[in-house]
Amino acid sequence: MIETKRWNLTSHAPSSGQEPADQAVLDASHMLQSGKTVAFPTETVYGLGADATNESAVQRIFTAKGRPADNPLIAHVATKDQLQNLVEELTPLADCLIEAFAPGPITFVLRSNGVCASNVTAGLSTVGIRMPAHPVAQRLLSTCDIPLAAPSANTSGKPSPTRADHVWADLYGRIDGLIDGGKTGVGLESTVVDCTGEIPVILRPGAITQDQIKAAWGSVMTDPALVATTSQPKAPGMKYTHYAPEVPLILASGTADFLQKQITAEQAQGKRVGLLATDHTAKDIHADRIYTLGDELPVVAQRLYDGLRLFKKSDVDVIFCETFPEEGIGLAIMNRLKKAADDNMNGFS
Ligand code: AMP
Ligand code: MG
Repeated sequence: MIETKRWNLTSHAPSSGQEPADQAVLDASHMLQSGKTVAFPTETVYGLGADATNESAVQRIFTAKGRPADNPLIAHVATKDQLQNLVEELTPLADCLIEAFAPGPITFVLRSNGVCASNVTAGLSTVGIRMPAHPVAQRLLSTCDIPLAAPSANTSGKPSPTRADHVWADLYGRIDGLIDGGKTGVGLESTVVDCTGEIPVILRPGAITQDQIKAAWGSVMTDPALVATTSQPKAPGMKYTHYAPEVPLILASGTADFLQKQITAEQAQGKRVGLLATDHTAKDIHADRIYTLGDELPVVAQRLYDGLRLFKKSDVDVIFCETFPEEGIGLAIMNRLKKAADDNMNGFS
């Protein structure tokens, strides 16, 4: 059991001289430089960071999360120069997408030059790199001045953390530090784009959408594994169970009436039912526990993992969630929901 240090950066009033926030970033940087693990907020979800060039530091991430060794990690950097230090070549495609979207919720897959430890890339010849836009992540990266391998800071298989308390619940006693920077913004993991070829290939959908990438480069492709579940995924992590809540999740498309009928049928069998739905849909539905997701897709994305984590075995036996249009960030929302539900869909149309 490790003593996990927690810093609170949510409520610091500005003051002169060195602020407590600066001290926290400095302390966390020293930990990271000495090979320790620190979780920190990014604009997507909380990441669990360690020195990406130090194999034993990176191993601590895998151990803390219980993550399979063949699932590669994303290296996080503060600047384009730092990104260039990790790759064989900055392709014109990567250069274009960096100019358009970095810093931001997008990861560029490029050929590794071997500076990142081999367990970061899970033995692949490529490395995924991201420049986060969150001010705390930026300050931490520029202060410690090393690339940080930083997968989502959750126990492997669970929904990613969008609040410091989610990280604490999963990893307290297993990591060296946690910077609490409040709720994350986007709420879903970054868009992952293979930039090794002539055309960008989306390996994982996220807040930077297919249309935005197409507008920047002129063309875009989607990894076939994102559409057909039968083909071999190019992003290795995609084959693992992900985002799983404590109790089974069923995705239900259709009207509020149809949803209510299914919920009532479950309740008639003695089951306690949880509901994840937009404010609009939820207002006419009775369930044993309800978590509302707002009405706009970006708000649904922000709240989704908090909702999935809220439902415990002690409260409900099954969760129903409505489905969303697979356009814009809706594609990323449905990608995560289908995995969370293990493709358990009650269709209606
Ligand atoms: P996480 O940091 O937990 O959001 O997961 C990182 C994900 O990024 C992995 O599961 C892969 O899907 C993807 N990824 C990271 N590095 C690579 C790479 N070199 N090639 C393809 N996909 C990658
Ligand atoms: Mg993850």
